[in-house]
Amino acid sequence: MKVTEKSLRARCTEINMGLLKNTTFGIRFERLSAGYKVELQYRDATPPQVLIQDATASEAAAAIEGAVLGAVAVKSAGTGTPEYVTRETFVRQVGERCPKCQTKDLNLGHLSVVKGEIVQHCSCIRCGLVWKSIYRLDDYDCSSAAVVLEP
Ligand SMILES: [Zn+2]
Repeated sequence: MKVTEKSLRARCTEINMGLLKNTTFGIRFERLSAGYKVELQYRDATPPQVLIQDATASEAAAAIEGAVLGAVAVKSAGTGTPEYVTRETFVRQVGERCPKCQTKDLNLGHLSVVKGEIVQHCSCIRCGLVWKSIYRLDDYDCSSAAVVLEP
């Protein structure tokens, strides 16, 4: 398939919206008089990193694919701890810790009961995360009923 400026643009858009969506950078290219320039553009103030310049369209395409492979490898290898704990971990900790920073300094809000579920609005004092803790109806127990209703 012949690489054109149009196909490069389409590919960059596809990558930036897809594989690189949650990374810290995107890919962009430019067509200059000397040829194509491909660079990584960071979502913060980091200056862009030029991957290739004065390149032909197919060289530019190869540079783009190379950068994607690198990014996917980093992503699948993981960069340390994930940002939020899993549902299993949250339940094992009986909802006593922030799902993000794991502190016990929480603001526990009011409870609202909806069809067998209790939702509690919570927020973290340390990192500011806001979430809902969800409790599900489990059982009933009459054995300790102390209240006797008079007819
Ligand atoms: Zn937190």
